[in-house]
Amino acid sequence: MAGAGFILAINLFIAALFALAFFLVGVSNRADKVAPYFALAYVFGIVYIASEFILPRHDYPQFAYTAGFTAFLGAVTSVTLGVARRYARPLPWLGVGAIIAISVLANWFGYALPHDTVERNLVYQAPYALMQACAAAIIIASRRRQPIDIGLVALFVLSAVQFLSKPFAAVLLGGSGDSSATYLATTYALYSQSLGAILQVATGLLMLMLLVRDMLVEITARSETDPLSLVYNRRGFEERAAPGLQNPAVPAALVLADLDAFKAVNDNYGHDIGDQVIIAFATLLRDTAPPRAVVGRMGGEEFAVFIPGANLAVARLLAETLRASFSSLSVPGLPPFIRCTASFGVAERLDAEGLSGLRRRADAALYTAKRDGRDRVASAGDPLADAMPAHPLAGTTLARSA
Ligand code: GH3
Ligand code: MG
Ligand code: MG
Repeated sequence: MAGAGFILAINLFIAALFALAFFLVGVSNRADKVAPYFALAYVFGIVYIASEFILPRHDYPQFAYTAGFTAFLGAVTSVTLGVARRYARPLPWLGVGAIIAISVLANWFGYALPHDTVERNLVYQAPYALMQACAAAIIIASRRRQPIDIGLVALFVLSAVQFLSKPFAAVLLGGSGDSSATYLATTYALYSQSLGAILQVATGLLMLMLLVRDMLVEITARSETDPLSLVYNRRGFEERAAPGLQNPAVPAALVLADLDAFKAVNDNYGHDIGDQVIIAFATLLRDTAPPRAVVGRMGGEEFAVFIPGANLAVARLLAETLRASFSSLSVPGLPPFIRCTASFGVAERLDAEGLSGLRRRADAALYTAKRDGRDRVASAGDPLADAMPAHPLAGTTLARSA
């Protein structure tokens, strides 16, 4: 086996390994719509490499030439489509289809050009460069700038440059052989296949890292999110709120909320409707809280909103808005005349107080709100809080009727 043939065999092995790796990522995480594209890219890579071995014995050299080209074009195209999927860009089917159709035709007719000329080799390599440049452009357009994104852009650009360098390298290194049969014996094939191996491994590893990182991010997000209400669970809430308490000079406030007489909702209308009430309340919290606020479900029907940079007055205003909005909200599934209510406890962080101290005081205020009749807001350390008037619609609530 000629030197390049040996490297080609190694390339075949690498392509098979990556095809398997991406296949396994796709199978283990069926929500992943990117891994199948990358797996397919390496399957095309295998087909291309196999064609280099098999086609020299083929009777139709022009067919062999274009078939090998098309297989590898399939590989770089699948990578570009996978990248578009991963970076949430519209899949460029039309552009990709046009590039494939034009370049396969050009390749078929370019076969007749004189062998070992820059023009003939450019017709062969330019579509690969173009497809890799598209992948880089898609990532750049996504405006993601994490190291792994920048690394992929650099690798795709390098790869495009490498494809464009090949026609010149072929001439400089003494030609790419008269046919597929003699190609593997040339120094150019050695250069081309070695560079291909290095770039194949680098790109494969980076794309694999990207998908593994995506999986980790998703698993972390899932472990910190409450699946019913889609706000943070207690763990996610505490994790997100902690940074807002680091600087004692910056104010911060906490609003705790607990649905009123919620047991009665479950008892009278069923657990599923109870779930709908929880969803409606969490949606209201998410929609009403300022963007910097952290919203969490602390358990059962108890929620928290942490507002970094807010003082007691701001937090209280938010709680009062939430209370009024919720008590006039009609929840799907509940009879239209039934209104649910919630009670709120509000506290502003004192000095270097931590989350647990802040929460304890907000909880005490919430207890006061419950004790004083529910559907109201009470503030920690604010004796006037209990004097807050109830919402005018409070009379029609389930809390009252229960
Ligand atoms: P109070 O006004 O004093 O808060 O009365 P309450 O009935 O709301 O308080 P209690 O803590 O006794 O009841 C809370 C109920 O919330 C009990 C529990 O079954 C229900 N609950 C907790 N989690 C869920 C959930 O995910 N879905 C539904 N439907 N109910 C839940
Ligand atoms: Mg309750
Ligand atoms: Mg409760």
